[in-house]
Amino acid sequence: MGCIFCKIRDGIIVKEFTYEDKDVMVFPDIYPIKPVHLLIIPKEHIGDFLMVNDEKLMTKLTKVIQKMVKKEKLEDKGYRVVINGGGAQAVNHLHIHLVGPLGKTAEM
Ligand code: AMP
Ligand code: ZN
Repeated sequence: MGCIFCKIRDGIIVKEFTYEDKDVMVFPDIYPIKPVHLLIIPKEHIGDFLMVNDEKLMTKLTKVIQKMVKKEKLEDKGYRVVINGGGAQAVNHLHIHLVGPLGKTAEM
C-alpha cells in the first residue's frame, strides 16, 4: 500500500504539479468540490495536523497558500483553507485544502 502522497512526491504516481519547491507540492484534488480545489502538501511525510512540530514548515506552507490564493485570483471571491483530522482525514499525509470561489456568504 504505502502513502499515496509520498508516491506522488516520488513520481511513482505521475501528477502535474500546480506549484512545487523543495519543501512543498501543490496539485488539484482529484474530486474537486469547487472550481478551485488545490491540495497544499509538505513533501515530508507528516501524518496529521497534531504531528506538526516545525514552525518554519508552517510558515512556508502559509506562504504557499497565500501564493495559490493570488494565483487563482480568489482574493475577493471567497475561499476556504481546511485541514481535516481526527477521523475526518482520508489520506494520512498532512495536506491543506484550498477551496473556492465560495462567494461572500459561505456557510461552514
Ligand atoms: P482528506 O484526507 O479527507 O482531507 O482528503 C483527502 C483528499 O485527497 C480528498 O479530497 C481526495 O479527493 C484527495 N485525493 C486522494 N487521492 C488523490 C490523488 N491521487 N490525487 C489528487 N487528490 C487526491
Ligand atoms: Zn506520505
